Amino acid sequence: MRSSHFLDRWTLSIGHWLIHGETMLSQEKLKENALTSIRLGVEDFQRASRAATDGGDPERAISAARNLFAGLLLLFKYGLAAKVTKAEEIDLVLFNPPKQIVPHPDGSGGVQWRPVGKFAKQTIDVDGIKSRFEAFGIEVDWDAMRQLQDERNNLEHLHPTKSIGAIAGFVAETFPIVQQFVVEELEEVPADFLGPCWRIMLEHRAFFEGRLQECLAAWRASSLPSGMLPYLASIRCGECGSPLLAPSQDDDGEYTCVACGESSPLMSELMEAVVEAEAGSYDPYDGDEPPLRDCPNCSESLFVVADGECRWCGYELEDWECVVCGEALGLDDQHNSGLCGFHAYQRDKDD
Ligand SMILES: [Zn+2]
Ligand SMILES: [Zn+2]
Ligand SMILES: [Zn+2]
Repeated sequence: MRSSHFLDRWTLSIGHWLIHGETMLSQEKLKENALTSIRLGVEDFQRASRAATDGGDPERAISAARNLFAGLLLLFKYGLAAKVTKAEEIDLVLFNPPKQIVPHPDGSGGVQWRPVGKFAKQTIDVDGIKSRFEAFGIEVDWDAMRQLQDERNNLEHLHPTKSIGAIAGFVAETFPIVQQFVVEELEEVPADFLGPCWRIMLEHRAFFEGRLQECLAAWRASSLPSGMLPYLASIRCGECGSPLLAPSQDDDGEYTCVACGESSPLMSELMEAVVEAEAGSYDPYDGDEPPLRDCPNCSESLFVVADGECRWCGYELEDWECVVCGEALGLDDQHNSGLCGFHAYQRDKDD
């Protein structure tokens, strides 16, 4: 077959090129680096969480996130390296090839495809790992990974003393990804493979999840409309960055941070979360309609145009489409008894 012939040639050429080129990464080295990075991350996390009187150092929160995230990526790379049997092919899967592949004469009237330039000096990033995992059939919860990557980037921008709560959430979210990968893809026993780190992360995750579920239960029992519950997930304590927020005792529209005790008004934060979530690709300069409008029922600016529903009070459009022509109706057509602007005009003219 033509295509497989092409691929064989291509692979051979790169393999040939690599053998004569770069230094090689070894599987063992990757594993060692991954485990060291995760261990340092867990140690940083412990130092960051301890009280100052007990040798605690909040500045370690950021390096905890950096080390853990780097450790996770190294673990993934180790997983990829473990999939290839030839040592010289490890570099093939872990480095980005040169962008240009050009046919060269093979000396006997044929051609050989060869990369022009060098393999990238740095190993593949998150996107590179993802595309290779897809090719190798390795599964990872990429939504959770993206969220983790965002959290890590957010942590970089937080003041160190305001990141203690955030790093607790970060470690709790890292755990299931590491656990799943070690068990499912590496087929290792996590307690053996990760050493004491594993138990520390496991216990922290269990503790954190417990608190998170308590917070959610308290919100469900509060006066907050149920349509708003999903948006709580994007709110963080302004003081410590923790996602562990519960309604204040007297249910007065404030929230209290379970991690540091700070209280803040809820509504403006929730509004921001809804606006951000619904805005999507909204571009006012492109003539787009704003994604949110004032609700005619409760007058909060939480009527989601795309869904025809208010997030706060649950008010829904009564007339969805024109009974004559089927055109979609919006908030402004609701007084026309089920007709679009044009057909309402026609009716009034005929009367
Ligand atoms: Zn807090
Ligand atoms: Zn409403
Ligand atoms: Zn119509």
